Amino acid sequence: MKVYNLSCSFKHSFEGWFASEADCLSQQANGLLSCPMCDSKEVTRLPSAPHIGDRASDRQPLQPQAQLEPQVEAAFLKGIRELMNRTEDVGAAFAEEARRIHYHEAPERNIRGQTTHDEAESLREEGIEVLALPALPILKNSLQ
Ligand SMILES: [Zn+2]
Repeated sequence: MKVYNLSCSFKHSFEGWFASEADCLSQQANGLLSCPMCDSKEVTRLPSAPHIGDRASDRQPLQPQAQLEPQVEAAFLKGIRELMNRTEDVGAAFAEEARRIHYHEAPERNIRGQTTHDEAESLREEGIEVLALPALPILKNSLQ
């Protein structure tokens, strides 16, 4: 008697009991195997894994850094782009405009622009929310 781990095309896994490996193969070839959960006939035999559940085999291989970085960068750029779309560029008048909005002298909206570090600090002291973004040369290329 042989026990094999089987899986259907919907990734249901189950055990199949066969007289021999040849029996398993012929049942598979003749479409006699079906998934007990969904009745799918597309059943494949999983490679036998005697150490299933073993800690070492449960561990996922770490994704190489080289693959991760573009994803992180793309997500970051997407966030920046969304921010850009939701804000009005007031350029060098940023600090002045931020104050006018804060003191209700200008319509309430999200703005972006350039300001100095000191200026940003004093805006924060006045209770005005300022989000500082690093100057990114990459943005010049990807934001049109
Ligand atoms: Zn199934």
